[in-house]
Parts: sequence; C-alpha cells; structure tokens
Amino acid sequence: MMHVQPIPALEDNYMYLIKDTKSGKAAIVDPVDVEKVMEVVKAENVQLTAALITHHHWDHAGGTKKLAEAMGAEFPIYGFSDGRIESLNHATEDQKSFKIGELDVTSLHTPCHTTGHICYYVRDAKEKAVFTGDTLFVAGCGKFFEGSATEMNRALNVVLAGLPDETKVYCGHEYTVSNLLFAKSVDGDNTKVTEKLRWAQKLRAEHKPTVPSTIREEKTFNPFMRVADAAILKKLGVKDEVAAIDKLREQKNSFKAKV
Ligand SMILES: [Zn+2]
Repeated sequence: MMHVQPIPALEDNYMYLIKDTKSGKAAIVDPVDVEKVMEVVKAENVQLTAALITHHHWDHAGGTKKLAEAMGAEFPIYGFSDGRIESLNHATEDQKSFKIGELDVTSLHTPCHTTGHICYYVRDAKEKAVFTGDTLFVAGCGKFFEGSATEMNRALNVVLAGLPDETKVYCGHEYTVSNLLFAKSVDGDNTKVTEKLRWAQKLRAEHKPTVPSTIREEKTFNPFMRVADAAILKKLGVKDEVAAIDKLREQKNSFKAKV
C-alpha cells in the first residue's frame, strides 16, 4: 500500500516521503533538506531506496549531492538529465517507468517551468498520486521560466488532466491561499473557489498543509485548468485556451491580493 507523507522544508516547499507499506521501501521527492529527510526516514523505520527530483531549481534539487554522500554513489537519484541536477545517476524521461518497492512510478515530462521538469505518477492497486513539483500547484501553476503558454497548457490540460480524476495531487510549494485569492479575482462566481479558499485559510491558520488535492478538484477551481470555460475566456477577453493561460500567468505575476 502507498502512504505519502508531506515534509515541509525551507520557507514553503514540500518534500514527500512515498512509502510502500508492504515492502517497507520508500522514496523521497525533492530532498532539499537532507537532515530532515534522514530524521523522518529513521522515525518511520523505512528503507530509503530512491530520490525523485522534479526539476533542477535549488529549492528542489539542492540536496542531491549531500544525499549521494550520505547514501553512497549507488543510491538511485532520478530526474531529467540535462546536467543541472548534481549526482543524478538515473536519467528519466517521458513515460519511463520504474518501481519503489511494489509501487509503480511513471515519469511525465512537463516542460515549461523548466525544460527538464518531470512529474511523477505513482500508483498501487488502489491509489494514485502525482508529484507535480512546480508545474501544477493547488489552484495554480508554476512560472514559465523556460517555456511557453502552449507548453503549460499541454502539461496541465492534456498530460495531468488526462490522469484519472481521483489521482491525488502533491505539489512543490504551499501556495494554495494566494493562488485561490487570485482565482477569486478571475473566477469570482465559482463557489468551488470560495469554498476551497475558506477551507485553505482555516488549515493554514492551524499551520496544516493543504495538500493533497485531486485532479478532479483542480478541474473545478484551478483557473489554469478551467481555460475551456466560456465565462473565463470572456472575463480574460481571449478566444482560446493558450491565450487564456498566457493572460492568467501574466496577471498572476503582478497580482497583489487584497487581504
Ligand atoms: Zn522551480
């Protein structure tokens, strides 16, 4: 059975320990804080067998060298191989599959935030989860540092939206409240946005994480995944989904929430 444990790191990042409870094997997603990872691995009494890196940015991949030193050079570190992730020894690419214990993992290449961004789709017989790094956030998406609106539209509305609706979404940062405040500014009549915002604000007041959501939920309140909605297109004054994604990103980049 799969069990996922979010581990907060730095200011607002999440690392994730993915455990296969049957074999006792586990993988760590984006281990930026290696000491914290080691503490959790010890406390959970699991065997760490791999690290999955979503992209090369320091706050996700910054711990790989230290992890390789701690675990040995043979320890598998997965990620996209463009020379920007230190100590990477298991290059992965779109649709490449491997195992964590008995869990199945498939890499999904979703370039845009970075050209080498990978999302990891993990499942057992019952559950499905996707680790989306800085591509899909709860109610938002990552900045287009190395890609276009066309690519982000493909990542969100073809690749990730194509996963089963019940797939749980575990993203790289706790940005949910600010994302929903932005969503409210472009999709204010959507009660799913206002309900989720109220829920997220309550959880954050208690310092609790707002992950995971699900792909089904994201389709109801994430403006970047609602760009086929006629009301959103009208509000943005654009005619198609790619233009809508472009405009949303531009507006979000300069958005200041009125709290
Ligand atoms: Zn990033």
